[in-house]
Amino acid sequence: MSRTGRRIVILGAGFAGLYAALELERTVARDPGVEVLLIDPQNFLLFTPMLHEVASGSLDPSSIVVPIRETLRRVQFLNAHTTAVDFAARTVTVTYGADRRARTIAFDHLLIAAGSQTRFPPALRPHVHGMKTIHDALVLRNWLIGLLERAEIEEDPARRRALLTIAVAGGGFSGVETIGAINDFVHEVARHYPRVSAESPRLVLIESNDRLLPEFEPALGEYTAARLRDAGIEVRLRTKVAAFDGRSLALDAASDAASPMPLAARTLIWTAGVGPSPLIESLSLAKERGRIAVDDTMAVPGHEGVWACGDGAAVPGPYGKPYPTTAQHAMRQGVQAARNIAAAARGQAAQIRPFRYEMLGQFAAIGRHRAVATLFGRTFSGFIAWLMWRGAYLSMLPRVDRKVRVFLQWTLEMLFARDTVQLLTAENMRTGRIEELMDSARAAESADQAPQP
Ligand SMILES: Cc1cc2nc3c(=O)[nH]c(=O)nc-3n(C[C@H](O)[C@H](O)[C@H](O)COP(=O)(O)OP(=O)(O)OC[C@H]3O[C@@H](n4cnc5c(N)ncnc54)[C@H](O)[C@@H]3O)c2cc1C
Repeated sequence: MSRTGRRIVILGAGFAGLYAALELERTVARDPGVEVLLIDPQNFLLFTPMLHEVASGSLDPSSIVVPIRETLRRVQFLNAHTTAVDFAARTVTVTYGADRRARTIAFDHLLIAAGSQTRFPPALRPHVHGMKTIHDALVLRNWLIGLLERAEIEEDPARRRALLTIAVAGGGFSGVETIGAINDFVHEVARHYPRVSAESPRLVLIESNDRLLPEFEPALGEYTAARLRDAGIEVRLRTKVAAFDGRSLALDAASDAASPMPLAARTLIWTAGVGPSPLIESLSLAKERGRIAVDDTMAVPGHEGVWACGDGAAVPGPYGKPYPTTAQHAMRQGVQAARNIAAAARGQAAQIRPFRYEMLGQFAAIGRHRAVATLFGRTFSGFIAWLMWRGAYLSMLPRVDRKVRVFLQWTLEMLFARDTVQLLTAENMRTGRIEELMDSARAAESADQAPQP
């Protein structure tokens, strides 16, 4: 790529990276002497607060992903994977295409916004579901329907029970929202499966702390546990997952209680651990609990022109503790980092400002049209909080077309029940020929590279 002047490179088009790009779009990207480049292997932003609604069949996956190209005009987008950063040479290396061709790109300013990933305990990894990517949610929805189909045909009652036992590890936002949503879903569609509805699926939420939703006041955590239990979910507090092999789930209770018997279960959804993305792990920068250490302007100390924000950076808050890893923080950090980069690029050091943000509120949907919320220091729960949850996140969802799609789907859901169409099955994944087609694309790209006679 030729150099047209000063170049600002953003790694990651999640909440932090895309909002930084949108801010630069309005400011320095208008300057023909400045090139802004956004790099991500995904060409969309995933709106994670609504991810559980995809897993539970309430929303189509395409409604909660925001296309990058249609959202940006002046900022260039590169659909590639960043594999390395050379801070001394001031370059990033990216790979792209079926044969993972590499390209080196120079930068004057670099914003690292590569986010986080689910951290699975290595022994559990082959057996557990994640709940972080759009693929996780799609696979989970199809997997749940597959379980119901399989249980319906199963003659053996013990095996049927194991198929219908679904556990979620982690009682934070994502665990609570996931179990609430999939409990509603499996019970709603179970009526189409006579054997399954006679037995009723069993859902278990496992949390190592003594309460759910530690991000909220204790009373809202207790309210959540009570409502989940009302909905038939077993809530096991002060309990850890000890082992899971896809068949048997061993649990460790707190030291004062006897460890419970292992559960026969086929499904464990892991929401109990998040860590920085592999790119961030690989960078030789100072870290705090794996997140890049930055100052309060989001500059990386000792590396002029290098900045980091979002889940992958430990941005110090007013009391020294890093800000929490939420979308609300990531998008605002992205905007402020972009303003600081623009100021630095223009040589206006006095315009570089610290990041400060006081969270106005937070929400968690807990199933059955209920949620818990805090807003402007007040707490809300039940149906009213659920309406607030929907209103707040619908307004935060970028792009009018996405808002309309989600609104229409929510409206349709009130009129028509969710269905049990299973588009991804083990069989159609095997026969889908994607691997064969990718092999063919790799061969074609390698042939293109070979010297011509
Ligand atoms: C299920 C779930 C529900 C959530 N609900 C809420 C909620 O209700 N409210 C809330 O405020 N927060 C919520 N969060 C948290 C929120 O999603 C994160 O805090 C937010 O996504 C962080 O933004 P980010 O830009 O730092 O990272 P991300 O959004 O993770 O984006 C990082 C981007 O970097 C890209 N990337 C990674 N590696 C590379 C590489 N090597 N090269 C180039 N690009 C790369 C990724 O593809 C991705 O697009 C939820 C999270 C989950 C998982």
